Amino acid sequence: MKIVVLMKQTFDTEAKVTLDKEGKINRQGVNLIINPYDEFAVEEALRIKEKHGGEVSLVSVGGDSVQEALRQALAMGADRAVLINPEVEEIDEYTTATILAKAVAGMEYDLILGGWRAIDDGSAQVAGRVAEILNIPVVNQVTKIEIEGDKAVATRDIEGGNEVVEVPLPAVLTAQKGLNEPRYPTMKGIMQAKKKPMEKKGLADLGLDAGQVAAKVKALSFFLPSPRAAGKIFEGEVPEVVAALVKALREEAKVI
Ligand SMILES: Cc1cc2nc3c(=O)[nH]c(=O)nc-3n(C[C@H](O)[C@H](O)[C@H](O)COP(=O)(O)OP(=O)(O)OC[C@H]3O[C@@H](n4cnc5c(N)ncnc54)[C@H](O)[C@@H]3O)c2cc1C
Repeated sequence: MKIVVLMKQTFDTEAKVTLDKEGKINRQGVNLIINPYDEFAVEEALRIKEKHGGEVSLVSVGGDSVQEALRQALAMGADRAVLINPEVEEIDEYTTATILAKAVAGMEYDLILGGWRAIDDGSAQVAGRVAEILNIPVVNQVTKIEIEGDKAVATRDIEGGNEVVEVPLPAVLTAQKGLNEPRYPTMKGIMQAKKKPMEKKGLADLGLDAGQVAAKVKALSFFLPSPRAAGKIFEGEVPEVVAALVKALREEAKVI
């Protein structure tokens, strides 16, 4: 079974987001990780490979820094990685999905796994768009996958319960928390990962040009939530302090 994992490198969940002078998200010095939902996808791909045989390929769109995330997933056990530099500064979900779909179309694949959303930009669009471009089914937010011949049976989260669906392969399935517990790379895996193939490609290698991937959505501005006002503590004896609190609720907070 040939499995392709769409893998994005994202800001660390602990990263503090700041804006630069031009009002853009400051990426300098931020710790980067594998998008956690994509880590579930990598783990699931490895488990399916262990059960059914085959190969796990990672595909990512991004700059050179993504190599670190790809090496980590190779150390977990993936076989090869492809990194495509989008070469354009302004990118949106259309850009990313167009590039990924073109890269995947040139590979052999029975199953495509991704995360249901990236934890940073979080639009939950890219994997679905890739499926649409490749004209194959997509199932989002899966918590269990069974491969049965040329079909996949997936359990997915729905409001207040679960749904079990069946799709013919190839298909795109996106991982939700609970799908599995990702493994840590072993020392042996880390050493082996250094020798595994990592192809770096540009748009021209995929037969694309900047015009074909130009973003359709333009970010006008980013802003951070305004800092929360400090709380007010009333100190003193009970009748006075209650009176002061009621007065503040009525006159300052205007909630009573
Ligand atoms: C209005 C707007 C403007 C933006 N402008 C810029 C910009 O100028 N420059 C810029 O760098 N970014 C920009 N971004 C961010 C960029 O659009 C997204 O990073 C990218 O399109 C992926 O979308 P997402 O992160 O929301 O992924 P989601 O759709 O939430 O991701 C779902 C899944 O798709 C797969 N996936 C997503 N991205 C990748 C990837 N790169 N490689 C492999 N798999 C992937 C993963 O499996 C992931 O779990 C902008 C975003 C918005 C909304």
